[in-house]
Amino acid sequence: MNLPGSPFLARDAAGTLTLEGHALAGLAHEFATPLYVYSRQAMRAAVTAYQQALAGRPHLVCYAMKANSSLAVLQTFAEAGCGFDIVSAGELQRVLAAGGSADQVVFSGVGKTRAEMRLALEAGVRCFNVESEAELDVLSEVATAMGKTAPISLRVNPDVDAKTHPYISTGLKGNKFGISHEHALAVYQHAARLPGIAVHGIDCHIGSQITEISPYLDALDRVLDLVEAIEAAGIPVHHLDLGGGLGITYTDEQPPTADALIGALLAKIDARGHGHREILMEPGRSLVGNAGVLLTEVLYLKPGEHKNFCIVDAAMNDMARPAMYEAWMGIVPCRQRGEAAQTWDVVGPVCESGDWLGRDRALAVQPGDTLAMLSAGAYGMTMASNYNSRPRAAEVMVDGAQVTLIRARETVESLFAGERLIDGHSRL
Ligand SMILES: *Cc1c(COP(=O)(O)O)cnc(C)c1O
Repeated sequence: MNLPGSPFLARDAAGTLTLEGHALAGLAHEFATPLYVYSRQAMRAAVTAYQQALAGRPHLVCYAMKANSSLAVLQTFAEAGCGFDIVSAGELQRVLAAGGSADQVVFSGVGKTRAEMRLALEAGVRCFNVESEAELDVLSEVATAMGKTAPISLRVNPDVDAKTHPYISTGLKGNKFGISHEHALAVYQHAARLPGIAVHGIDCHIGSQITEISPYLDALDRVLDLVEAIEAAGIPVHHLDLGGGLGITYTDEQPPTADALIGALLAKIDARGHGHREILMEPGRSLVGNAGVLLTEVLYLKPGEHKNFCIVDAAMNDMARPAMYEAWMGIVPCRQRGEAAQTWDVVGPVCESGDWLGRDRALAVQPGDTLAMLSAGAYGMTMASNYNSRPRAAEVMVDGAQVTLIRARETVESLFAGERLIDGHSRL
């Protein structure tokens, strides 16, 4: 059978699915389901590929932590020498709690509040990726009031089609992200005049799950055109932040490797005479997606006239990608059965018809079996909710012989810990 994704995921001769050699059915038994399991070696290997491709020139790989922000995951990337791309003050606090340093953090996002700006300035983040002129003015005001100068790059919208799902495409004119190519020079000139702002670089991020190099090269050409215009106007631009977005294999996608992507980007950067600039990148999904699986137990089989349903104990609240983006993710048994496969829709217990994990899957399953959803390391746990008062799953990290419960299963009591009943006499 074809197992997309991580080289650390394998099926042994006895038909047992393993991650770094650990039988996944055994981990499900030990820690219960739904359960996320990640390979630390897979994360390290993914980031090393980026770092090696950029070796020999000033660079910083900033892990876009919204893909998976569990503290032990952040710790893994901090130890590997990564910076972080954050989109909220909460993410900054996570970086600091995991042992990361603020001076390697870039702060993206279209809606930073004043309070978030203050926190980030206090901590000393490396750069704000500013997404509008209005945000620039507020940031200057907040920084000036604190007696500080905010380092910025402008996130420009190069108006290129990343050829991905509309919900995860961010570099087209109609998107809420970034500053349009036409306005970018004027906004840089405005930035250079503001008292609380210091221009450090330029930034773009065109989308997610991108499986071709050409949209990146188109965006890069547009960005370099701008850099030349901005510097001609007397404003130095030190770093190029080329964003994230590199896709992974969920089924039969064949995205370029980080090495191939970066090789092509650097070739263009050098050819256009920009080889001296520091390069920042913000990969998220490609560092963690194929490092993780979501384990779930089969509760009931419900064969029907039109559809057969395989009802499992994980649901859209644990893994939102299928319901939200109609994403296809591999679903395989952790122990293979000899019986013939039947076609099943794999669905969760949540009271929504949109609560499905996979449709029309050929599986030989019985109640009590453990299934693994593959490539679940990115945008899985971070998008989990408590819908239907379901506590969020536990998370385990394997690293060679070491197995660590990195997040305990949430308790129901913790779900309503902050809630209050209304005083019975309050209406009198
Ligand atoms: C989400 C995001 C990323 C990472 O995207 P991936 O597709 O996960 O690599 C990078 N930069 C910004 C600004 C983002 O919002």
